[in-house]
Amino acid sequence: MNVAVVGGGIAGMEFVRHAFKLPVKITLIEPKPVMVCQALLPELLSDKVDEGSLCIDIEEFCCKTGVEFVRDRAEYIENGLIITEKGKQVEYDAIVLAVGAEINHYGIEGAERTCNVNTLEATLKTKRELNRAEDVIVVGSGITGVEVALELAEIGFKVCLVEYMDRVLPAFSPKVSNFVYKIMKKDGIDVRTSSAVLKVERDGVVTNKGKIFGDVVIWCAGIKPSNFVERLDVPKEEGWIKVDEFLRAGSAFAIGDCAFVKIDGKIATKTALEAEMQAKHVAENIKRILKEERLARYRIRSSIDKPIAMIMLAKNRAILVYKGITVFRPMKLIYKIKKIAIERFLRSFT
Ligand SMILES: Cc1cc2nc3c(=O)[nH]c(=O)nc-3n(C[C@H](O)[C@H](O)[C@H](O)COP(=O)(O)OP(=O)(O)OC[C@H]3O[C@@H](n4cnc5c(N)ncnc54)[C@H](O)[C@@H]3O)c2cc1C
Repeated sequence: MNVAVVGGGIAGMEFVRHAFKLPVKITLIEPKPVMVCQALLPELLSDKVDEGSLCIDIEEFCCKTGVEFVRDRAEYIENGLIITEKGKQVEYDAIVLAVGAEINHYGIEGAERTCNVNTLEATLKTKRELNRAEDVIVVGSGITGVEVALELAEIGFKVCLVEYMDRVLPAFSPKVSNFVYKIMKKDGIDVRTSSAVLKVERDGVVTNKGKIFGDVVIWCAGIKPSNFVERLDVPKEEGWIKVDEFLRAGSAFAIGDCAFVKIDGKIATKTALEAEMQAKHVAENIKRILKEERLARYRIRSSIDKPIAMIMLAKNRAILVYKGITVFRPMKLIYKIKKIAIERFLRSFT
């Protein structure tokens, strides 16, 4: 059986790690040379980690696991073939879509010119921009926005965090929001909630409450499906690839950020934890297909109503949110646990 994996991020690479011993031929299509652990990108801004420590060389990993690496971007799928940007045609019997997501600027004027930390390249560019900055505006206070704001405050930037909703970390409980809000205030961050960014200008952002001046604007306000996903002829929900309880979308499997996973009324969060679990599950289901067994239902671990997250708060601090329970202390120990978990994950590819 030929299995094609489109996307070599956390989900795609984790799938390969679990599936390479199966009696299948795997082809991984990914334009980048490395898999990036995005969870560490905010700490790259503050030089707590270096580029090398958050990347895994895909070619090396593929060599070791006997997987064919096609270093190219999939453009579209037609008549059972994946066509890449450089014109290569990849045949497959089973396909695993793991293409992640793209930054969402919501069509706001000037927003495409802002910095972000969604990819390694973008984070390195943001770092260069910060060299000439004092005042930084972070737009969006999900986990990424909060982590970026606190990392930058720790290394001496004047940070203003702008959030559209009436509290920071709006996807979490008010208790979590209040706790993190107090930490941000204590660390000197100017937090502006209920503030909608209407326009981005060279010297700051215009909000519904007036202009905020800043040298650099870092966009952490959300993600959307990629153009590749837009072009796919598969079931969709809000533009994402809609999968069933076996993580299938039509004849394909989809995992990670590009998938909309709703099972028994619960919706999976777009997190590394879910990407890893879904990848492992699809490897298991491919094994079942080979053995002509029934597919196994997926069980969501981190859902939107009961998320699992470790939120880093700079200064070696983190908190743990585990399905409605929040562990606020000891923050340094929680931070250490998160770092160990990431290190272990990355080491599993070497
Ligand atoms: C700054 C930041 C911090 C985060 N922190 C955390 C955290 O602390 N904990 C947590 O659980 N989650 C965190 N996340 C979310 C987590 O990183 C993602 O949920 C996870 O990476 C999703 O994995 P994925 O494989 O679906 O997508 P990605 O890891 O983004 O990988 C997608 C891959 O697909 C490739 N690709 C895209 N289009 C194509 C194409 N057409 N053809 C071929 N390849 C393609 C891309 O190049 C990329 O390598 C964070 C995200 C960010 C941005």
